[in-house]
Amino acid sequence: MGSYKAPLDDYRFLMHELFDYTDIAPRIGHPDLDAELLDMMLEEWATFIEEVWCPSNRIGDEEGLKFSNGTVTMPPILVDVWRQTIESEWMAAPCDEEWGGQGLPLFFRTACDEVAIAGNMSLAVIGALNLGVYDLIHDHGEQHLKEEYLQKLTTGEWCGTMAMTEAHCGTDLGILKTKAEANPDGSWSVTGTKIFITGGEHNLVDNIVHMVLARLPDGPEGTKGISLICVPKFLPDGNGGLGERNSVNCVSIEKKMGLHSSPTCVLDFDGAKGWLVGEKHTGMALMFEMMNRERLSTGMMGLGLGEAAYQNALAWAKERRQGRDLKGIKDLEQDADNILRHPDVRRMLLRSKVNMEGMRAMGLYVGLQMDLAEHGEGEEQERAERLVALLTPMVKAHFSDVGAETADECIQVLGGAGYIRESGVEQYFRDVRIARIWEGTNGIQALDLVGRKLPMQIGRALRDLLWPILEFIEEHRDNPDMAPFTKPLYQGVRGLQQLTLLLMSEGMANPYFLAAGATEYTRYFSNIILAWLWAQMVLICLPKQDESPFHAAKIASARVFFERIYPETIALAAKVQAGHRSLMDYPVEMM
Ligand SMILES: Cc1cc2nc3c(=O)[nH]c(=O)nc-3n(C[C@H](O)[C@H](O)[C@H](O)COP(=O)(O)OP(=O)(O)OC[C@H]3O[C@@H](n4cnc5c(N)ncnc54)[C@H](O)[C@@H]3O)c2cc1C
Repeated sequence: MGSYKAPLDDYRFLMHELFDYTDIAPRIGHPDLDAELLDMMLEEWATFIEEVWCPSNRIGDEEGLKFSNGTVTMPPILVDVWRQTIESEWMAAPCDEEWGGQGLPLFFRTACDEVAIAGNMSLAVIGALNLGVYDLIHDHGEQHLKEEYLQKLTTGEWCGTMAMTEAHCGTDLGILKTKAEANPDGSWSVTGTKIFITGGEHNLVDNIVHMVLARLPDGPEGTKGISLICVPKFLPDGNGGLGERNSVNCVSIEKKMGLHSSPTCVLDFDGAKGWLVGEKHTGMALMFEMMNRERLSTGMMGLGLGEAAYQNALAWAKERRQGRDLKGIKDLEQDADNILRHPDVRRMLLRSKVNMEGMRAMGLYVGLQMDLAEHGEGEEQERAERLVALLTPMVKAHFSDVGAETADECIQVLGGAGYIRESGVEQYFRDVRIARIWEGTNGIQALDLVGRKLPMQIGRALRDLLWPILEFIEEHRDNPDMAPFTKPLYQGVRGLQQLTLLLMSEGMANPYFLAAGATEYTRYFSNIILAWLWAQMVLICLPKQDESPFHAAKIASARVFFERIYPETIALAAKVQAGHRSLMDYPVEMM
């Protein structure tokens, strides 16, 4: 068990047919990159993950980490896999050519992320952090920081962390206590204790670069007074090697539900030497910039592990025989029919498959908007920036929620075997669970959507998004083959408009109302985007369905989405409309 094949056919369909990469490439700064080359690169990456990363996943989970005298020892297989990853130069794919990268588009990184996560999430997380730290130094670091760190981060020879959380503050970073004091040479001395720091200490590489949030002596209270300091484990020696050991130490590591080979560290900074990244007191804004990209990666964790769980549950279901087909015995030679004969088993598997297919389309769509936001021009660039802001909390929350639900459902497909470690599916469930918590809990994503993103520029991003959806519906209104998809989409969009108005008007008068419905609203909205993407996929597949089983299956998937998943919007709308009273009037002493 624990087998995995990257969904390459699906990616080919999305990149060539749904989004037509050839048309978009020149607008995102890649006029020369042809689609066939991208296909080939994704295939190579997938083969590498399937052959090198996948076999390490279960072993890493079983062996776990060893902590002694401030050092964390990773399972040896992971050290070897990381070495091979550095040699493969794959880590560099999305980084700038100037720093040893290949400068590939962000949407391609999104696809690579899904595959890597499915292969081994503990390693993929380290890779994602590396790229986040790379981006921060690349976009905001002084030249000497770029020269000292970027190439090493690009290759994966050094790793990065993001060190924000402290014992008394996770969500509420405005009250953090870690401080940084100026040194005469322009560097800073950082003092404080950070907890829950992923990859804070390990032996995969020689050096670890921490991006630490700290308060400078003149920093105002709250989030506006926080700065970002780059604190390496070893100070660079100026020649690309390691110099003096810095005073940052790992005090302990956490024992946790999943990700057993990902070190979650308590780090003690005791006057550790570091350098300011960006302007003073802009640390939170910069960290949010990094987090936006990490939030897309976190969403992809739900997708990657949900897909891996689905593939394993399906493989198992194809072999398992229990009971008889309700319409009569299907296999007289056997004592029982295959469990795929049971509607309830199909319900679980098809919901899983279809959820993953839809989220893959949405993940790639947001990845493309990120590319347009970075490399596009004029109105297209500004629109993409707004869309990324609006869609990021949905990708983070919806994908990680649905990914965790899917892994849970896939355990159910296996029955008792799913609960047993040997099946491998329970590891996906344990590993994916954290994606709902870190990078800002999903509750906070929902509040971000309704409280910040919707009102942004008086709802402009929402209009940017809804306009093409309504246009699409109008354009295909008279197509009877599209009616089963465009009709519910239209009803859903109308519902979204009404719910948004309700939330904004009631929420203005009473923030409890806004906050109480935020999670359900986020899920409702995500369903609308998915429905729109599904309807577009159907339109592409309708003329091809007779010749191509792949395209016929996409239409069948769309039917499952619209009939077995999308109707949840009705219940979600009712919960948003119900408001806050039943929650907030409930006496705390009776809870
Ligand atoms: C395995 C693991 C790895 C991690 N890796 C890192 C890392 O690399 N770097 C790092 O800095 N941190 C890391 N974290 C920390 C993680 O980001 C935090 O746990 C997360 O942000 C939530 O903070 P908290 O745990 O303090 O929960 P709390 O902030 O205490 O929240 C508790 C609950 O209250 C809710 N809540 C809190 N405030 C509000 C509010 N204002 N409105 C509505 N609801 C609210 C939350 O949604 C949550 O449900 C990691 C955590 C874990 C478990």
